[in-house]
Parts: sequence; structure tokens; C-alpha cells
Amino acid sequence: MDEAMAGKWICPMHPGVVKDEVGSCDICGMDLVTTESLGYVKVDAPKEAPLVIPVSAPLITGARAVVYVQLPERETPTYEGREVVLGPRAGDYYIVKSGLDEGEVVVTSGNFKIDSALQIRARPSMMSPKAEKAPMRGHHNH
Ligand SMILES: [Zn+2]
Repeated sequence: MDEAMAGKWICPMHPGVVKDEVGSCDICGMDLVTTESLGYVKVDAPKEAPLVIPVSAPLITGARAVVYVQLPERETPTYEGREVVLGPRAGDYYIVKSGLDEGEVVVTSGNFKIDSALQIRARPSMMSPKAEKAPMRGHHNH
């Protein structure tokens, strides 16, 4: 339901008739009722689409996820590490449940370099390439 409907008055017969104050319907003259009484109550549903960030943005260590947010209005790019709560992954994106506001600039590449600079621990083993097995030596054919 639209948040704009909250606290308004509406005709039960004509949902298009919505007013800010109690009154009667312009079409049928029926007394308006509160939008809440018709189930137009907005409870906890988010108004906007969920905030998402690319999967490459967060640095996930155990149960924590950290993203780097570019601070606005700085002469030189300045970043702030921030812990966020991620929701489920949707394709190439994570839904952000909390920790970020819409419109903030998140670093999506090179965050490992920043991470090193800030000396937040990241296991080197996560970054090391997979050890490749040496090819098996076959039998010598004479
Ligand atoms: Zn009406």
C-alpha cells in the first residue's frame, strides 16, 4: 500500500476519492472513512525497492560484512569502512538490510587494497591462488 494513503480519508465505494480530512465522497456523498479502516495501513513495508550492492562490494569476514563508503564532499577521495547487514543474495547483488543509505557511494573494486591500508584483517589464504597439482608423470613408453 502507498504510504501517501496513510492517515487519509477515503470513500469505501470509490477508492479514487481520497481526502486529507474527514468529509463526504464527491461522487456518491457517502461519509469518508479512514484509509486505515480499509486496510491501507502501512506498517513496516519498505517504501522503496530494497537497497542492493554488487556482490563485489562487501568484504565478508565470517558473520560480518564491511563495505567502503566514499565520504561526500572531500577534496581527495576518502573512504570509511562500515559494517553492514546483508540480506539474501539476488543474482549479482546483495540486499542491504542496514548500514547503508540510498545514494551513498560504495567501493566495488580495489577494496582489498583499501582494506590492507586500513589494516583490517583479511586472511591471506583467501587471496592465494589454488595450488595446482603438478601433472602426473606417465609411464615411459619405449
Ligand atoms: Zn463514493
